[in-house]
Amino acid sequence: MVFDAGHLYGLILLLAAVLVGYLLYAGRFRKLKSGELDRITGSYYRGLHYLLQARTDKAIEALSEALENDSDNVEIHLALGHLFRQRGEVDRAIRLYQNLIARPTLSFQQRNGVLHELGVSYSQAGLFDRAEELFRQVSERSDAYGSALNSLLEICEQEQDWDKSIQVAQQLERQSGEPQGQKIAHYLCEKAAREQAAGNGAAQERLLKQALRANGDSPRANLMRAEQLLLAGQAKPARRSVEQLAERRPEMIPDLLDLLTRCYRQLDDGAGLIQALQVLFKRHPSPELLSRIVALLRESGDPLGAAEYLTAEANGVLSPLILNALVSTRQTELPDDIRARIDQLLLTLSNHLLQSGHAYQCLRCGFTGRQLHWCCPGCGRWETMVPAQASDCAHG
Ligand SMILES: [Zn+2]
Repeated sequence: MVFDAGHLYGLILLLAAVLVGYLLYAGRFRKLKSGELDRITGSYYRGLHYLLQARTDKAIEALSEALENDSDNVEIHLALGHLFRQRGEVDRAIRLYQNLIARPTLSFQQRNGVLHELGVSYSQAGLFDRAEELFRQVSERSDAYGSALNSLLEICEQEQDWDKSIQVAQQLERQSGEPQGQKIAHYLCEKAAREQAAGNGAAQERLLKQALRANGDSPRANLMRAEQLLLAGQAKPARRSVEQLAERRPEMIPDLLDLLTRCYRQLDDGAGLIQALQVLFKRHPSPELLSRIVALLRESGDPLGAAEYLTAEANGVLSPLILNALVSTRQTELPDDIRARIDQLLLTLSNHLLQSGHAYQCLRCGFTGRQLHWCCPGCGRWETMVPAQASDCAHG
């Protein structure tokens, strides 16, 4: 588990709340000696100040001092535990939580909170069994404690125990009412991929159908199913499933082109492929689609048609990929007017060229990579990676 900006923000809010609580308390009762209150709130203020500056060491120092004067304050213990973990001192965090959990004075809610933090620490230390046990306890103790189940799910995913992941996700769905079909479909796809690797076609098919029942829109399950159909010689249903997916998830079109091409090839329908891609391009223009259409036109023995189509459509999707198509087209024999249009496009493009082409970026955390990850390596969310196209430089 990574200590991110969101956690830091949460800590800051927590400390601010504790501080406000003290000031209200002092304002109402004025029982503490003024020096004592100053000392306590002073430590908090400093802790808060250092947290805001992301100076972990100093914040730990200040909060430890605050605890010396106020050892019953559970929130400060939790904040300290967070900071230990942030510094990589998981053992220290675990000891702190274990001491805390031994206190009989904890409220039910506090106790669950500490157990949860302890579970996260175990998981961070690689003690998955203990973490799992704790998260189970917490989720059984309290129906509303969905975050324990979420943490348990994280562990099951890390262990790649897909059966258990499915179970926990279903439990989470029942308890929280939040649909988990998207995740469950991925778990079933993971299982299907294992069966595929083991050569168990029937089991793979069964799992993919289950995945599609869990989430009919699952692009991964649809893709795997289409691939399987194609391999079984059933190009028509495979093609239908890929084309439906392209309509539902146009951002995936570049990744569907190879499979779609193979479907049409198996049906021996080259002209149909070009036509289908041109229809698709009208609705969802992209550099990948354009360069594929141009390549297919050229392959089909119509280089002039390819050049005309390229120069007519390139303006909306200028990108490094299109640069490549323009340059290679320019090397063929062309009428002067088309050559002039290509030169104009090259000039425009060279003014715009910014970054590399077909990389992927996570919509949630901004992680970028060269390949499509179903589960973002940056934030662990599913299906958040999209092609980060340089094509938007055409509009900018
Ligand atoms: Zn991400």
